[in-house]
Amino acid sequence: MILKPRDKSITHQIYDVLNYRWTLTGQHRRDYLNQISGHKGESVFDEYMAPYFKHDVVLNGLNLKNGNAEFQTDTVVVTAKRVLLYEVKNYSGAYHYRDGSFYSESGYRMRNPLGQADRADSLLYNLMLNRGYQLTTAFYVVFINPNFSIEKLPPNPALLFPNQLHSHFRSVATPHNDQKHQQLHLAQEILKLHNDDYRPHNLPDYRFDELKKGIFCPKCFSTRHTDTRKMRTCLKCGHIETITHSIQRSSKEFSLLFPDVPLTTNLIYEWIAHMYSKRRVRYALKAIYQSCLTGPRTYYI
Ligand SMILES: [Zn+2]
Repeated sequence: MILKPRDKSITHQIYDVLNYRWTLTGQHRRDYLNQISGHKGESVFDEYMAPYFKHDVVLNGLNLKNGNAEFQTDTVVVTAKRVLLYEVKNYSGAYHYRDGSFYSESGYRMRNPLGQADRADSLLYNLMLNRGYQLTTAFYVVFINPNFSIEKLPPNPALLFPNQLHSHFRSVATPHNDQKHQQLHLAQEILKLHNDDYRPHNLPDYRFDELKKGIFCPKCFSTRHTDTRKMRTCLKCGHIETITHSIQRSSKEFSLLFPDVPLTTNLIYEWIAHMYSKRRVRYALKAIYQSCLTGPRTYYI
């Protein structure tokens, strides 16, 4: 069973919005493409995994912290015997292995994913030990892309390629659910450590006044639209939603980009480029947020 489904990472969600409200160039564009590629790789991995682990508990995309050390895990599976950690890499192209490192064809060395997985494994082990659980763990790095190859790689049972996944999952999944209750309990304890508000330190440095204002279609990102009294229809792709929903969706984009800025009617009115009246914005915000009065201003949380 899946106890925590997979979401896009915060960085990915932020880039999704910045992609139509800002101009992504250079390193930002490369980061965004990496996010997309990583998420795609994880989704392919999820499909491989789906028929197995029926009697185990799966936690996707955890953000964890042990002291000052923050770390992410792509997939954690609590089986009857062990806790399995998977780090999924969607690398493509030809690489070669030399002295413990991976090199691309153009000679660049990449961070050893085994080191990354080992670090996550140790940190999770220690975190749970602090809570009174002594885990038996195993970690794996999965190179999910069939177009990835690496020369001179010594055999290592912690490295998995797509053609090995089915037999691997068969060998590690729990065949019966005798201890389902304990597994679920342990998985819930691990899930308690997940930080939903985690924000990476290396987010792009965007400012409110640099971003494009308006309401963007969630399907095609166009701002061209036509309205009836309650509904908004995209003129480019035909997507239809209520006007209230389009305002709420835009205010959520704002909160994602500026989590520390209090939401006010005026701010969202500006954010949506005065597309609808302040009265309508207030109505939309009131429906999904709790309003707080401080001095002359109302803000929404
Ligand atoms: Zn559209």
